[in-house]
Amino acid sequence: LPSSTVVTRFAPSPTGYLHIGGARTALFNWLYAKRHAGRFLIRVEDTDRERSTEEAVQAIFDGLSWLELFADEEPVFQFSRADRHREVVDQLLETGHAYRDFTTAEETGRLRDAAKAERRTFESPWRDRTPTVDDLAQPHVVRFRRPQSATVVVADEVQGSVSWSTDDLDDLVLLRSDGAPTYNLAVVVDDHDMGVTHVIRGDDHLNNAARQSLIYDALGWTRPTFAHIPLIHGPDGAKLSKRHGAQAVHEYAEMGYLPEAMRNYLARLGWGHGDDELFSDAQAIEWFDLAGIGKAPARLDFDKLAHVNSHW
Ligand code: GLU
Repeated sequence: LPSSTVVTRFAPSPTGYLHIGGARTALFNWLYAKRHAGRFLIRVEDTDRERSTEEAVQAIFDGLSWLELFADEEPVFQFSRADRHREVVDQLLETGHAYRDFTTAEETGRLRDAAKAERRTFESPWRDRTPTVDDLAQPHVVRFRRPQSATVVVADEVQGSVSWSTDDLDDLVLLRSDGAPTYNLAVVVDDHDMGVTHVIRGDDHLNNAARQSLIYDALGWTRPTFAHIPLIHGPDGAKLSKRHGAQAVHEYAEMGYLPEAMRNYLARLGWGHGDDELFSDAQAIEWFDLAGIGKAPARLDFDKLAHVNSHW
């Protein structure tokens, strides 16, 4: 494949049904891939073993199938890649971009509180300490060694250029004491290995983009293009919740909504193409662009959705 091939992905955590927000994220990624004759992939982020369930995995796939948002390859299950994640952590340890932290959870909590009281960022005492052979036998986490007093800039396709001082971030944990890789590490390794070129996701992940960018840089990997889309709000402008109405995609299916209408409506939720209200999949694919995604949260409008549905 030419290196310019666009690859997007939808990366749900299987802890519940597919909700409207997730469906829109999946749709935007699907549209962007189709627009650029690229590939749309699905990665099930099932690393939280307590909250991830088989039923949720099925519910998400059912919702995506109903919406006819099919992936171009077999889905990737993140938990199955834990060995690869640990391999990359070893690489970061070898290059000095990560270190082993033997501070106990209790002590870490105490140091964190003290740092907070003094308004400084928590630093592990192990950041600059070399463990002895005896230390190495003790339980520990592995932390990312972020650059100090540096600026990390994310050129986001929706949010514009956003910057952070690395002094305001901490050395995030890459591997827990039980050897489990953490979210930010797993996402970077998987997106890189899957060849993802564009990460389109909710703006609740914007801060993670800063952390993930630092990991990409440390590994010498090319960062993907990020596009963080504002979350969906209810008709009253408040964060979307149950009281606003149905949130699960399957509820709309059960109410008799048509997947075509749902796709049309979701495409317009936070993205626009002039005044066009009703359009076909072919038109959505032809028109979809990241520049058309608004910075303000979209408001779910159930009347409009019903109106769109009545036209199909
Ligand atoms: N699994 C994350 C979530 O469901 C998404 C991670 C990502 O898109 O990078 O919120």
